[in-house]
Amino acid sequence: MTKPYIGRFAPSPTGPLHLGSLATALGSYLDAKVHGGKWLVRIEDIDEGRCKPEFTQAILHALREHGLHWDNTQLDSDVWVQSQRHTMYQEALNRLAAQGLVYPCACTRKELDEANSSRAFGENRVYPGTCRHGMPAGRTARAMRFRCAESPVNWHDHRLGDFSDPLSQTSGDFVLKRGDGYWAYHLVVVVDDIASGVTHIVRGEDLADTTARQIALYRAFGAETPAYWHLPVILAADGQKLSKQTGAAGLNNAHAMENLKTVWAHFGLPPLTATQVNAWLEEAVPTWRNYRLG
Ligand code: GLU
Repeated sequence: MTKPYIGRFAPSPTGPLHLGSLATALGSYLDAKVHGGKWLVRIEDIDEGRCKPEFTQAILHALREHGLHWDNTQLDSDVWVQSQRHTMYQEALNRLAAQGLVYPCACTRKELDEANSSRAFGENRVYPGTCRHGMPAGRTARAMRFRCAESPVNWHDHRLGDFSDPLSQTSGDFVLKRGDGYWAYHLVVVVDDIASGVTHIVRGEDLADTTARQIALYRAFGAETPAYWHLPVILAADGQKLSKQTGAAGLNNAHAMENLKTVWAHFGLPPLTATQVNAWLEEAVPTWRNYRLG
């Protein structure tokens, strides 16, 4: 029997909801509705330096104002907030460590930059494996890394097709926890998606190249890999991804209907007739079903 569909939207509260994140929220929400599934919201606020509680509140408020109501009821009555889940992440790290899949790394940023000096700007940095078989004598750990397998990670995206990612050449052993206690995104996203039973991940295309590292973790945890659908991201006029980092404007909730129509048009979908948010979202479901079928 196939598992019931559970999808999710996992914003980082580094700014308010903007058109780009509304597109991901809407896409993941509609996909859950198409499948008669659940749609969870999780706040990814592990980067305490950049995340702010007021943005969490603003994002949740904006989602409600856009008619995007989540179904978190299982373990919490409300959304999961990563900053409250450190114990889970430590337990998960311990499980990987018990399998010999984690090792301490002493390399500094400068050393890693030097090791990657032949790579073009913007190209992924690859960990050279310096501490893979033990840290050089006298050095102290600055991070805990995941020991990647040699064989490539093969995975499929509903829109982008098949990938074969040789992690040892595209990222190398990646960080799970930093020396200052910060958890790495790849670990926490996988731990939380497994813990909440997520079966389908619908998110922006900019995260597609993180997927292989996350799948490597699913395998290490002995968990089933979810289905992936990376949606086209909304670009700003200068061709940059519209994001909080590039200062994308927060949405005006008074214009919720217009905002939804804007991101709908971005997906290249035909205008709908409903003029109220809730009716519009209902009308959007069958069109999204066809969009998914391509
Ligand atoms: N928190 C991530 C972001 O806001 C998204 C993580 C994910 O969807 O896997 O970019």
